[in-house]
Amino acid sequence: MGRLLCPMCNEEMKVADMHEVFFRRSLIMKKSEEEQLYYHSPYNCVLLHPLCHQTADYRSNKIVCAASIIRCEGYEEVKRYIQEANLHFVKEELSLLEEANDLYKSMQHL
Ligand SMILES: [Zn+2]
Repeated sequence: MGRLLCPMCNEEMKVADMHEVFFRRSLIMKKSEEEQLYYHSPYNCVLLHPLCHQTADYRSNKIVCAASIIRCEGYEEVKRYIQEANLHFVKEELSLLEEANDLYKSMQHL
C-alpha cells in the first residue's frame, strides 16, 4: 500500500480526519441515514491532517481538496455525482468543481 498523502500539504499522514468537500457535514446530518451514506462518498470526502482540516473550508483550500477528488475520481464522474445530489445549492458546488478542474488541469502542465 502506498503512502497516504494529505492533498493540502502533500505530506504523509499518520493520522487523518475525513473532510466533506462539496456537501458539508452540517447539511448531511439533517438527512436520512440512507442519504447520509450518499454524501459519505469518495466523490465528496478527502482525508486530511487534523491540522490542515482546520482551514479546509477556506475557498482556496476547498479548491485544492476538490482538485484531488477530480484527480482520483475524474471530473465527469464528480460532476454527475453533484448533479445527482439535486440540491438547491448545486450551482455553487458546480462552480467549485469548475475552479478545481482548472487547478487540476494547470497542475498537469507543470
Ligand atoms: Zn496536511
